Amino acid sequence: MKVVRSFAGEKWHAAEGGKGVELRDPSTEAPLGHVSADGLDMDHLVQHARNQGGAALRELSHESRGQLLVGMSKAIHSIRDELLDLSMKSCGTTRKDSKFDIDGASGTLYHYGALGKEMGSSLVLEDGEGEQLGRSSVFWGRHTRVPRNGVAVHINAFNFPAWGFAEKAAAAILAGMPVITKPASSTCLVTERCIEAIVEADVLPDGVLSLICGSVGDLFDHLNEQDVVAFTGSADTALRIRSHSNLLAKSIPVNVEADSLNAAFLAEDVEPGSETWNLMVREVAREVTQKSGQKCTAVRRIFVPKNLRDAFVEAFVEELSNRVTGSPYDDSVNMGPLATADQLESVLQGIARLGEVADVIHGSGERCNGVGAAEGQGYFVAPTLFEAREDGGSEIVHDLEVFGPVSTLCRYDGSSATAACLNSRGAGTLVTSIYSDSDEWVHDFLRRGGSYSGRFYLGSERMAAQAPGSGLALPSSLHGGPGRAGGGEELGGLRALDLYSQRIALQGSKRTVETFVRP
Ligand code: NAP
Repeated sequence: MKVVRSFAGEKWHAAEGGKGVELRDPSTEAPLGHVSADGLDMDHLVQHARNQGGAALRELSHESRGQLLVGMSKAIHSIRDELLDLSMKSCGTTRKDSKFDIDGASGTLYHYGALGKEMGSSLVLEDGEGEQLGRSSVFWGRHTRVPRNGVAVHINAFNFPAWGFAEKAAAAILAGMPVITKPASSTCLVTERCIEAIVEADVLPDGVLSLICGSVGDLFDHLNEQDVVAFTGSADTALRIRSHSNLLAKSIPVNVEADSLNAAFLAEDVEPGSETWNLMVREVAREVTQKSGQKCTAVRRIFVPKNLRDAFVEAFVEELSNRVTGSPYDDSVNMGPLATADQLESVLQGIARLGEVADVIHGSGERCNGVGAAEGQGYFVAPTLFEAREDGGSEIVHDLEVFGPVSTLCRYDGSSATAACLNSRGAGTLVTSIYSDSDEWVHDFLRRGGSYSGRFYLGSERMAAQAPGSGLALPSSLHGGPGRAGGGEELGGLRALDLYSQRIALQGSKRTVETFVRP
């Protein structure tokens, strides 16, 4: 049976002895292997990354670091078909959903590679303009950002084993920090294969990229004040990591991307059957079911004006009815199973809790047989739509993230003021979508409640022709959200490099200061 390996100190490490976490194909429940990091020397791993990888990266210009990212992107793309198959088998995602992860990984690495090229020969990041600090320009000041002299530890969730690794690594490496990446155990076969391809392509200096498959063990005890942790996963794990005594004692930054009760609003100005209406129906149905709803950006709360409720439910249920749940290997299937038995249990528990305050209006809310899968096998749950009994939805609707193809429709009065208030009840989201053709409505919403979400996706007839849907985390726009969503920030073009660099103020002669920043 396959034992998933870690890559540390330029060597592949397979745990001996203990079996660790068992991996299964979520469509057939057939065993695929084991994951364990037992025996991995975390201290040595950190030292190697810091001393070899960090030192090598800091010698390179942004353009050269960008070339490393392009090399990583090409290495992943070169085994694209193999990775898509592996993703279908080990994550249960359809081929289309697998592309979202695998092509997202190579695309994001390439995007940051191109940004590096644009930055040219610079070694440090500019931060505003220089300014006169004394009576004349003899005494000059300027801010800049230099790479942190440590290692970036990246801990990722199970739902994006390729993109999750790549989007974090791209920013860290371009900023000049080596990376230790740790995927979630349940889907780490895909990440392991990505790293193998990168190692085989021999595109990175020693120590720039390391992989832990299995538990992090005592890794956090070996980090110091120059290191950084970036985490994606549940709020509970985030709290545990944030509270680690060594991370707190050394003020080690911890960036968190966590749960999110993303909302979609239909504004009162939108007519049934209009282009904006159809856009919302199409996109929200996709955001509920893509990757079987196992997306941090999936829409969990759908708000519809009371007077449009019947027409919307009719159109939306018709759209959801096009989803065929089953094995990713069956051509008629467009939604796969949940990723693990634990996920299945957690989603069924979540459905039961939502049932306390909402009624199922589409789907059964139960485990089902998958099309093309053996009866009674696989972690399948068909799309399930609830409707909140109370207008606006009661507390559980705004608080419980059911990480599956499950969403709750809530009626409201259709006004921007009420919508902003309802959005805020999610206590901070990654993305909120608004479907409206009224700029006045949208602006009022944003002025009232703009601080409750990291990103606003503004669907309208004017952008419909190029609309990608709210779930796509584009490398040029920020990904992250306040409060419950973790309070972190990733992507957003060069803003992503902030986490991996230290802002410093330089005060001295104009020549010394300016030639450091722009040699
Ligand atoms: P999770 O159980 O919190 O696990 C996330 C990661 O943390 C995994 O790699 C896990 O490793 C690791 N981990 C668990 N305990 C740890 C500890 N004590 N110290 C260090 N690492 C630890 O979350 P998940 O089930 O993988 O992902 C689902 C959640 O992630 C959902 O709540 C979803 O909303 C959130 N998510 C958020 C975003 C975002 O960008 N905001 C994106 C995707 C997912 P093991 O697997 O080995 O336990």
